[in-house]
Amino acid sequence: MDVAVIGGSVAGLQAALTLGRARRQVVVFDDGQARNRAASHVHNFLGAEDLTPDELLAVGRRQLATYDVAVRDARVEDVEVVEDGFVVGGERVRAVVLATGLSDELPDVPGVADGWGQTVVACPHCHGWEVRDQPLVQLGMRGAPERSVARALLLSRWSDDVTLCTDGDELTASQLDELKPAGVDVRTERVAEVRADVSVALTGGAVLAAQRVFVVVRQHQQSDLAERLGCQIADGAVVTDEGGRTTMPGIYAVGTAAGPALLAIGAAGHASTAAVAVHADLLELDLGSRR
Ligand SMILES: Cc1cc2nc3c(=O)[nH]c(=O)nc-3n(C[C@H](O)[C@H](O)[C@H](O)COP(=O)(O)OP(=O)(O)OC[C@H]3O[C@@H](n4cnc5c(N)ncnc54)[C@H](O)[C@@H]3O)c2cc1C
Repeated sequence: MDVAVIGGSVAGLQAALTLGRARRQVVVFDDGQARNRAASHVHNFLGAEDLTPDELLAVGRRQLATYDVAVRDARVEDVEVVEDGFVVGGERVRAVVLATGLSDELPDVPGVADGWGQTVVACPHCHGWEVRDQPLVQLGMRGAPERSVARALLLSRWSDDVTLCTDGDELTASQLDELKPAGVDVRTERVAEVRADVSVALTGGAVLAAQRVFVVVRQHQQSDLAERLGCQIADGAVVTDEGGRTTMPGIYAVGTAAGPALLAIGAAGHASTAAVAVHADLLELDLGSRR
């Protein structure tokens, strides 16, 4: 077996596709936690606008069946480093591709987790178009008002009816000056609840009706494998070169594990580029051993 891909969401499956088409033997392990799994559609992904996240991955898996790619529904707990390679899930491989993605830490506000992916979302590029020109609430990240302001300004491109709820943070005069011309209203009360009818209840009794609530999230690596394998991690991302090579030989990181800001199609594109580098590195080893 040439390569183990750990993570079978868009980045992992795309890496497997590129490697499979390069006639590499690949095994993909995935435990079904694609980051956008709660969303009803994959938006901003050319050719997949009408698909759910599950449907997109199912199409990907079906297309991989043409190649020498096995997909296993299993979590990888450990990667063993052995001479000239690794053992992953009982398979001896020459290279490991970490496509393990991120998880989102949601604001600790009642109702946010219940609505996540549907009435509560994070990214206007992914979910802004559907609610353009409608009343929107940007729920800020308590304790990080500069991030909250930046997100509200971003969201104001999709609607001129945006309210920023800072959840208790006071804003500076210059932050208020930035928000005013963008038409963003500001509420600084603590947020009591995000309700299923998409309204936001503030402490003190006010209730804001909205079409969608956008939140600011903290992101974390979904897996600690990169860290345990000794790969360098900076600002929450696995450090790689442009070919997805981590600081540990034979280990690559692709998609949002390495580039947290990537949208789904960007994660897939990054994985494809990295998979070309994986193939080139293996080819170099193959040719070197024949010289
Ligand atoms: C609610 C929501 C909606 C979104 N909507 C959109 C959208 O409409 N359009 C868009 O472009 N982007 C959207 N995004 C962003 C999108 O989800 C990411 O860009 C994309 O999922 C990144 O893909 P990835 O393959 O890098 O990682 P992920 O999707 O996070 O996948 C990582 C995979 O690795 C697996 N995994 C992790 N560790 C292990 C392990 N140890 N063993 C086995 N498997 C493991 C997980 O189960 C998971 O399947 C959305 C995000 C969220 C949170």
